[in-house]
Amino acid sequence: PTWLGVMGGGQLGRMFVHAAQMMGFKVAVLEPAKDCPAGHAADHLICAGYGDEQALGELAGQCVAVTTEFENVPAQSMARLADHCFVAPNAACVSVAQSRIEEKRFFTDNAQASGVLPAPHKTIASLQDIEDIADDLLPGILKTVRMGYDGKGQVRVKTREDVRAAFEKMGNVTCLLEKMLPLAYEVSVLAARGHNGASVVYPIAENVHRDGILFTTTVPGPNVTAECARKAQDAALVLIERLGYVGVLCIEFFVLQDGSLVVNEMAPRPHNSGHYTIDACVTSQFAQQARAMARLPLGDVRQHSPAVMLNILGDVWFEGEGNAAREPAWDAVLALPGANLHLYGKDDPRRGRKMGHVTFVAPTLAEAQDSLRQACAILGIPL
Ligand code: ATP
Ligand code: MG
Ligand code: MG
Repeated sequence: PTWLGVMGGGQLGRMFVHAAQMMGFKVAVLEPAKDCPAGHAADHLICAGYGDEQALGELAGQCVAVTTEFENVPAQSMARLADHCFVAPNAACVSVAQSRIEEKRFFTDNAQASGVLPAPHKTIASLQDIEDIADDLLPGILKTVRMGYDGKGQVRVKTREDVRAAFEKMGNVTCLLEKMLPLAYEVSVLAARGHNGASVVYPIAENVHRDGILFTTTVPGPNVTAECARKAQDAALVLIERLGYVGVLCIEFFVLQDGSLVVNEMAPRPHNSGHYTIDACVTSQFAQQARAMARLPLGDVRQHSPAVMLNILGDVWFEGEGNAAREPAWDAVLALPGANLHLYGKDDPRRGRKMGHVTFVAPTLAEAQDSLRQACAILGIPL
């Protein structure tokens, strides 16, 4: 059998394992936590730190290709693996996506070609940088340069005094101040590029966040205009090409109240907003990643049904009376038209923790949205 490898043992790794196994691959996962979603599904779990030389050697020796499902795996480790096997995406691409500063620079340097700019921003590394903030960058959001996700490592700031306090609270680590933009809605685009340079782009997704965490993804998005879709998809294709990227890449955009498009950030891997592709597209984002890694032709990205994805957070285990966790009514959710439930095999639900998702597919978007509303009522999620 042909083996593929994944750095990281979370739910993205788990869904990758399932997709790759369906195609006949064996999958090895490298992850420090023994009890992890991808580890339970994998054919082989290498339980070690992401920087462990011996473990990296074992993974690269066993697999024809390795990818990452966790965007903060040290880029250095990806480079080490590349000495022995094919690595997609490569260390340089992963490294750009790991730093908000490098990511913004990449977007800015390629704005002419892509047609999109990032939000106005400034690096904050010292008290002097705070003094130097231009008036029109405020109000803004102070974001850590590294390791932020689900809105963690972000503080909303109105004044220079707020920035000073937030900077200190984050331990004076280098941050990025971004101007707060008037968002109309948010979209993301998944693109994939093969080893031979051929690229594909999936239908654009409209995303709603709650408390900094993705809440729903709707495709086709009710607010998305044809022009916005074309612009974002064209930009994604330019950016993936300029990166020389191989594999699945997700790019998030803001659509402002004046209709203009701003590029927010990118994830060098399949993405939560791309989970709809599992149930609604010919080739899921995870099957696409396996194809790119194995240097096979990329798959058809055609969407065959309108879809709405709802993230299932640990919160739904605690709805209703009392504080004790109780299993949600999956039987009622699964009875809804077009429901596909995906649970990640995590056995300790906590508030704000991603436990699974449910995707509703239907002949029309209205029917899918109707099932979504009923699911929220069943699970006690306010809409
Ligand atoms: P993810 O989990 O998607 O990786 P993250 O923690 O990396 O999230 P961002 O995507 O940068 O963070 O921001 C999270 C959310 O905060 C955005 O989806 C958007 O709703 C809001 N946001 C971020 N930056 C801005 C901005 N400059 N103006 C207005 N809203 C913003
Ligand atoms: Mg992010
Ligand atoms: Mg984001």
